[in-house]
Amino acid sequence: MPELPEVETIRRALEKRVLGRRIAGISISREDYVRAGLSDISSLTGQVIQSVERRGKILAMHLSGEWALIHHLGMTGRILCVTSKEEAPFHTHVRISLDGGGMELRQWDPRRFGYIAVLRECGLVEFAPWTSLGADPFDVAAGEFLELLSGRSQPIKTFLLDQRRIAGLGNIYADESLFRARVHPARPARSLRPVEAQKLRREMRRVLREAIAAGGSTTNDYQKLDGTLGEFQHKHRVYRKAGRPCRNCGAVIQRMILGGRSTHFCPECQPLRP
Ligand SMILES: [Zn+2]
Repeated sequence: MPELPEVETIRRALEKRVLGRRIAGISISREDYVRAGLSDISSLTGQVIQSVERRGKILAMHLSGEWALIHHLGMTGRILCVTSKEEAPFHTHVRISLDGGGMELRQWDPRRFGYIAVLRECGLVEFAPWTSLGADPFDVAAGEFLELLSGRSQPIKTFLLDQRRIAGLGNIYADESLFRARVHPARPARSLRPVEAQKLRREMRRVLREAIAAGGSTTNDYQKLDGTLGEFQHKHRVYRKAGRPCRNCGAVIQRMILGGRSTHFCPECQPLRP
């Protein structure tokens, strides 16, 4: 699933490729892929893409006529920028043609947990998937992070995945952040001492920054805007490494299920009782 680094990689590429370009038309092959604003699709024709914003794992393209186009990539989604001549593969649900170059943005998503939404800028504040998101990992201050953890009895891994608290982490970067911070994923969030919480916040930001620099992680379907793969999967230390030796200490990486999610950790580097 595309997480913060993958979506941020796409956002930055969109900024380079489509800012200032005019939407020549949108075609939708599956109406149920449009979460909101299906009847407003035609209003977007002729509008100029003015900025591309990310919150958590969601992208918003802000358009000239006070409209916004929201993209969520779900589990298997891709946004690709291709020439219009290129044949659209099966599972391409959205095609946005751009003027001046025969170029097209396409959203491809075989499992269809993603969506697009067409909203008036003023309606964005009422769109719950956008407004219910918690703090961005790069914006959350040290004191605020500690405050978020306090009183939360859920496992820290589950806490990190809750988009209403911290927005943008999924399974890969939650596991990698906890490993780097040497925090066992099953520890109650509130049990982290301030020094551990600060280390976790620091390592979370560090791993996200490194992953963005590497263009994200391609573990399944994710591709960059130009169709190439991310590189950060080669830098994972615990995610999907169960049974292999820890690169810090040589102990065998373990896998457990927490909150229904597969979780990877080193039992030596991340003791349950520190
Ligand atoms: Zn270890």
